[in-house]
Amino acid sequence: MQSPTRRQILQASAGGAFCAALGLPALRLPRARAQSAPGVATQQLRANLYVLTVGGNNVLAQTAPGGAVLVDGASAADSPALLDAVAGLPDSGPVTTLFNTHWHAEQTGSNEVLATSGATIIAQENTRLWLTTDIVWPWNGQRFEPLPEAAQPNLTFYDDGELDSGVRYGYLRHAGHTDGDLYVHFPDENVLAVGGAASGAGWPLVDWWTGGWIGGVVGTMEMLLALTDADTRIVPAHGRILSRADVEAQLEMYNTIYARLAGLLNSGRGPDEAVDARPTQEFDAEMGPPEEFVRRAFESLWAYLSPDA
Ligand SMILES: [Zn+2]
Repeated sequence: MQSPTRRQILQASAGGAFCAALGLPALRLPRARAQSAPGVATQQLRANLYVLTVGGNNVLAQTAPGGAVLVDGASAADSPALLDAVAGLPDSGPVTTLFNTHWHAEQTGSNEVLATSGATIIAQENTRLWLTTDIVWPWNGQRFEPLPEAAQPNLTFYDDGELDSGVRYGYLRHAGHTDGDLYVHFPDENVLAVGGAASGAGWPLVDWWTGGWIGGVVGTMEMLLALTDADTRIVPAHGRILSRADVEAQLEMYNTIYARLAGLLNSGRGPDEAVDARPTQEFDAEMGPPEEFVRRAFESLWAYLSPDA
């Protein structure tokens, strides 16, 4: 059988003909089901809140006919598919507000197109500053150019703020992932979006080049506990949705690792020796290969704690 073209899939998916072409029974879909866009997985969290996952990056979308709110915008390459998927959500309107949880390219790839259509782009001020600067990560040489001026956040804050709808946002000031991390809290739905400040898929990146550090990961977990209750759903930039119990477990884990790395630093060890000491060993089965995480976390201690830093 010839592969169907994208157009045929789009035409067929409305009526179930694509399922028939593959010999599958047509799916009975509830009327309000979100239309799927290619490459975008959609998960409904609450009545008007959806997590869209594209290219491994989570985006939280709050829909309303008057305008949608997005927390993060995926990469520039994935932005068209993401925005198609948002437009296909029930009760969706144009995207009027976009949060950048931090400056990374996997979060800020929709800035340009949404700024052009008049959206408010909200970020902590440090995130805006990183987006105006050339950045080269010293650990792998990866380079990031500044965003065009029109694509930069156009509403920044230092501590916290609130939308007219009651959605609150604030600075995760301990700097676990970068020094511009923010959270967005939907109090009526009891959902908290936290970007890269927590991970639902293995070890996080401690981006010490732009201000993150392992002590900040610990402080961030404490702050997330203060912002949540047992029923809160916590949406990270990558991986599964977390509960408060997950954050409690992560706090304990990162506290342990932080103490071990600080001990290694204080006894004069370097990053290679920190990796060899296996400071994460009892967590690796769940979290995955730790070497990159341990190196960045150890280097972050150099950046934060060394007397000449
Ligand atoms: Zn990130």
